[in-house]
Amino acid sequence: MSWWEKGVQFQCQGSGNCCTSHGEYGFVYMTKQDRQRMAKELGLSVREFTQKHCDRTDGFFHLKENPQDPNCRFLKNKRCSVYAGRPTQCRTWPFWPEVMNAKAWKKEIASFCPGVRGKKPLVPAEEIEVILKEQKMSEDSLDQEARKYLSR
Ligand code: SF4
Repeated sequence: MSWWEKGVQFQCQGSGNCCTSHGEYGFVYMTKQDRQRMAKELGLSVREFTQKHCDRTDGFFHLKENPQDPNCRFLKNKRCSVYAGRPTQCRTWPFWPEVMNAKAWKKEIASFCPGVRGKKPLVPAEEIEVILKEQKMSEDSLDQEARKYLSR
């Protein structure tokens, strides 16, 4: 039985806080599908987009980071400048398998995400399950891509 089986209160408040590096929730990982979607949004080929905007760490593609600036490179005035093409992990936040436990949700996530604090509309468990599944599939794709790359 999940702690969220009766749903959880959440509504994005547009703070942009989830677009800023928070330690272990830092990298914006990019599956092949994410890179294709964002490249299209920016009018670039996937190769051009990847060269310009991505790095690879331990076999995993992620958006390039600036050590002097914890904000995502696409965050402009607290808004995502590539919203329609944003990657899966940005679409599914904060319903990620690794944070869907009461401790992480109520402490770590609530510490920087105003959407999980206060009286917000209830997101039903059925909807959470769909989002968790999408995020899990994305993470599996990332793992597969990284394994394939590292075994070359
Ligand atoms: S791609 Fe957009 S939604 Fe995702 S972290 Fe960057 S600014 Fe935020």
